[in-house]
Amino acid sequence: MSFKDVFQAYNWADVSAAIYQKTAADVERALGASTVTLDDFAALLSPAAVPYLGQMAALSQRLTRQRFGNTMQLYIPLYLSNECQNICTYCGFSLDNHLQRKTLDDGEILREVAVIKKMGYDHVLLVTGEAQQRVGMDYFRHALELIRPHFANISMEVQPMDEEDYRQLQALGLHAVLVYQETYHQDDYKKHHPRGRKSNFDYRLETPDRIGRAGIHKMGLGVLIGLEDWRTDSFFTALHLQYLERRYWQTRYSISFPRLRPCAGGLPPKVEMSDRELVQLICAYRLFSPTVELSLSTRETPHFRDHVVQLGITALSAGSRTNPGGYANAEASLEQFEISDERAPATIADMLQRQGFEPVWKDWDAVYDR
Ligand code: SF4
Repeated sequence: MSFKDVFQAYNWADVSAAIYQKTAADVERALGASTVTLDDFAALLSPAAVPYLGQMAALSQRLTRQRFGNTMQLYIPLYLSNECQNICTYCGFSLDNHLQRKTLDDGEILREVAVIKKMGYDHVLLVTGEAQQRVGMDYFRHALELIRPHFANISMEVQPMDEEDYRQLQALGLHAVLVYQETYHQDDYKKHHPRGRKSNFDYRLETPDRIGRAGIHKMGLGVLIGLEDWRTDSFFTALHLQYLERRYWQTRYSISFPRLRPCAGGLPPKVEMSDRELVQLICAYRLFSPTVELSLSTRETPHFRDHVVQLGITALSAGSRTNPGGYANAEASLEQFEISDERAPATIADMLQRQGFEPVWKDWDAVYDR
């Protein structure tokens, strides 16, 4: 059994209709529940919950501080390569985009590492496009061996892999894997991923199962907000999260909420999500899962990030560059998408301290791996 079996028992149109039919009474029941069910979650992210946003935010804030204390984890991506053999309609690295392709060699990786370390980070998220020949397991094994001595822990956001690959990478010090479904709308998924290995919806859908079976410490889930109706997509993300939390209970989970950003050759969002709606979604996830980590990237504006850190977020990226080589050399190559919050990590850390948070520069200490 995998998540696919669970997923197939649901129908997008029915889920969507159920969400949009929720009433104030459903929302009030969800707010009073000691355990928030999936049905309650549907009520909390429905339009009927909008008038209850203040109440949701207060609850979300309390639950988050109870579980995570006054800490805020900082993370930073290190883009190793922008080569990609997939066509994704929303991404600057898409194969049909004629841009200069770059994969970092050892010297370039170490130069990026040095800049990131100087910013204060002891944790890094390695990111690549999907180019099996150039950036496959051999490249990853080598990159991990090269980078591991410099950081307490390492996360990866690369193409979905087989279970055995995840096992091997974990043995080399990989701590977390992020893999976003982009959208759970199967027909639209095909439209947005017309070519390349990523067009295989099922293989992607079952990736968290392979990560869970491989025993990776932590995994990140999410959808790309803007491709489809965010409420329905988020319901499926929560369904996926619930299934995984029960089945791979020793794994930690995080959720991200990337809103579609402009990029070279990219498409405009089909669905716009307002700031208030994003706050509603963050609070709904927190009420649904008091232990899930919720992270916010530099796609969001400084104003929005400064306000939302109090309401349920537990991790922020800061100082990000989304082009390979972009830390050591600002002009290195084309970025994956535009950044909204350009502030330096030290500035973000000051902002957090002023708001009563302790910035945390790593997710895990290497001593626990022994
Ligand atoms: S989203 Fe990922 S797989 Fe798709 S084009 Fe961009 S880098 Fe390649």
